[in-house]
Amino acid sequence: MHLKILYRGSLISCNYGCEYCPFAKKQQSAAELATDKQEIERFINWIAQNSHYKFSILFTPWGEALIHKWYQQALVKLTQMPHVHKAAIQTNLSCKLDWVEDCNKAKMAFWATFHPEWVTCNKFLSQCLELNQRGINFSAGVVGFPQFKAQITYLRQNLPIHIYLWINAVKKELPNLSQEDRAFFQSIDPFYELNTQHYPSLGKTCRAGKSLISIDGEGTIKRCHFIKSPIGNIYDYNWEDSLFERTCINETCHCHIGYVHLDYLELDKVFGSGILERIPHNWDYNLAALLTGESKYKA
Ligand code: SF4
Ligand code: SF4
Repeated sequence: MHLKILYRGSLISCNYGCEYCPFAKKQQSAAELATDKQEIERFINWIAQNSHYKFSILFTPWGEALIHKWYQQALVKLTQMPHVHKAAIQTNLSCKLDWVEDCNKAKMAFWATFHPEWVTCNKFLSQCLELNQRGINFSAGVVGFPQFKAQITYLRQNLPIHIYLWINAVKKELPNLSQEDRAFFQSIDPFYELNTQHYPSLGKTCRAGKSLISIDGEGTIKRCHFIKSPIGNIYDYNWEDSLFERTCINETCHCHIGYVHLDYLELDKVFGSGILERIPHNWDYNLAALLTGESKYKA
């Protein structure tokens, strides 16, 4: 069985200070960081011991993880395991990147977010180009505020054409966006409008809880990051009993890392094996189709 995991441990700190983020410039004590490190190491051991599964893992930290060596080491170790298909991470891409040479690059992926208020466009771009030059798969993206349009244009013009640049829709700001703003974001990211929706999910089948789970530092299993009730713990002998098909108990689902697993949306066909790191399947094809006005996957 192939199990996808969203891992979010005890890390709640970041080297950037984005205005809208609760982890902005937050620091943690040495003891708290040591706990996070121990949790990661325990999780890696658990993955190693469960080689009867195939795993794809996305680290979705509350803060920036790759400035800590133990997350870099986690990716190195995971990508070297034969039964791990993918190890990916959400990052602000502020860390040094030489360590990626120790990974099995074919299995590694980054979800890199540009934060225009904390890093220059050229610095972020140079990190992206280094990742590309080192042969790492990644998506890059920006939160869709109209004041970032110039930087977004610059990034799209300077990123290699095969790199997908996503725009995260700010749902509560949508009423304030002009049609021109939305058209601009859609012209950069043909899946932007997909990300503007609150998808009805109550009673709908979702792969979360069956073939995708959320895990915290203590091993608690939840079906996804958006339904808080635990369904088990990976460190219990019977953890596999918690995996079965479920219907969603939330009214709607609006975050990429959630709604892409709703069965009826069939977004696994859009993102394929890049679903965790947000890289559309056949992205080159889609870009070409977009440029000729024939995007296959219209919102
Ligand atoms: S880089 Fe990400 S985690 Fe850090 S402050 Fe900004 S939004 Fe928050
Ligand atoms: S639809 Fe969203 S909230 Fe509901 S189970 Fe799936 S991922 Fe979780």
